[in-house]
Amino acid sequence: MTSSNNSGQNSTICCIVGGGPAGMMLGFLLARAGVGVTVLEKHNDFFRDFRGDTIHPSTLQLMYELGLYEELLKIRHSKIAEVSVRIGDRAFTFADFRHLPTQAKYIALMPQWDFLNFLAAKAAAFPTFTLRMGCEVTGLLREDGVTTGVIVKTADGIEEISAPLTVGCDGRNAVSREAAHLPLVEEGVPIDVLWLRLSRHLSDPENGLGYVNYGRFMGLINRIDYFQVAYLIAKGTFSQLQQAGLSAFRQEMVRIAPFLADRIEEIDAWDKVKLLTVKINRLEQWSSPGLLCIGDAAHAMSPVGGIGINIALQDAVATANLLSEALKSNSLTPHHLVQVQRYRERAVKRTQAFQVFAHRILNRVLLNPGPVQAPVIFRFIVNFPGFKYLTARVIGVGLQPEHIAHSAESL
Ligand SMILES: Cc1cc2nc3c(=O)[nH]c(=O)nc-3n(C[C@H](O)[C@H](O)[C@H](O)COP(=O)(O)OP(=O)(O)OC[C@H]3O[C@@H](n4cnc5c(N)ncnc54)[C@H](O)[C@@H]3O)c2cc1C
Repeated sequence: MTSSNNSGQNSTICCIVGGGPAGMMLGFLLARAGVGVTVLEKHNDFFRDFRGDTIHPSTLQLMYELGLYEELLKIRHSKIAEVSVRIGDRAFTFADFRHLPTQAKYIALMPQWDFLNFLAAKAAAFPTFTLRMGCEVTGLLREDGVTTGVIVKTADGIEEISAPLTVGCDGRNAVSREAAHLPLVEEGVPIDVLWLRLSRHLSDPENGLGYVNYGRFMGLINRIDYFQVAYLIAKGTFSQLQQAGLSAFRQEMVRIAPFLADRIEEIDAWDKVKLLTVKINRLEQWSSPGLLCIGDAAHAMSPVGGIGINIALQDAVATANLLSEALKSNSLTPHHLVQVQRYRERAVKRTQAFQVFAHRILNRVLLNPGPVQAPVIFRFIVNFPGFKYLTARVIGVGLQPEHIAHSAESL
């Protein structure tokens, strides 16, 4: 609920910067708990090509706990029960979700804009919820070192919104954390991702599949009618690839996944290939008085394992669980904000360590331009009893799954 106060400024109890997975889930949960909350999203819609589309078993479990599971799954989606990787000419199942102790034993692949629209529609049923699209936060309001709200650029001009709590959910390039001068620790990342689409035929592989060969790694995400293709390159080498020409790039892709030959000509211009910069970093301190950062704003995740959305949503659930009562009773202190970091940080750091390790392996793959075979140790590990279930647990549920603690305030 955004309301005008006596000074003519807008005010709310909790102002959320960014309507991505973290921001929309937190907005929904706070409104559900009866807290006045305003989510500010800089774009006019949720529709963007580069959003990850994975809804993991742990997120589906949250939707189940919220009583929204069946309804969410009415939205068109595909399911992957296992993740495989083809190394050279042999495919290996890397993770199998069928035995997870969750309601859904699969990853649902659903365009993220559908998931965010769903959350927005459900949140709108609560009178304390406001979502404002096309509102870009450009800075923080600060008084004596305390964040007291945000400065927003809208189609009608500049506005100020005051709030006892601002939550930065504005992703990897967060304005919120920069404006608060929160110190950031960067992990070196050796890879970037090229993001493109190719049409998908009914006879194509159903499950999530990675292809490794000739110094390349390519992931194909099944979006029913088309594949979202994630093509890994060594950081900073996109211009070299462009200089070599589009035809060479197409040939490289077909060399790794020959079944794409009949549609590869769909990539007929470089503007169909988007460069997405991969980062891994984290704030030393997720909060300062009046401000908390969560999700990628507090700790940017790499696409490896497709776990960033999961972690962002789990941060949001933990934040709502830990802060709702204090926000409702107007008793929030900086200590409450520090608690969120203390509670979530260990799982985040470990997950990032797993991603950094995976980057090292992927970087080795990118450095070997010849045909590859899976190393003997890999074949041994992947066939070791329990391995596929362990990886399914890490990818599908995460190291610290969260659960809905509060029931909804009556409407
Ligand atoms: C190439 C790539 C592919 C990925 N694929 C996957 C995947 O398949 N599965 C997965 O789990 N993770 C994936 N990830 C990681 C995942 O995208 C992030 O970890 C996750 O999106 C973090 O969610 P978030 O809500 O914290 O931030 P974001 O999703 O980045 O959302 C931030 C939101 O804030 C808005 N915003 C930004 N600045 C402002 C501002 N100043 N004012 C108002 N609004 C603002 C943005 O428009 C956006 O809507 C991928 C990452 C990359 C780089």
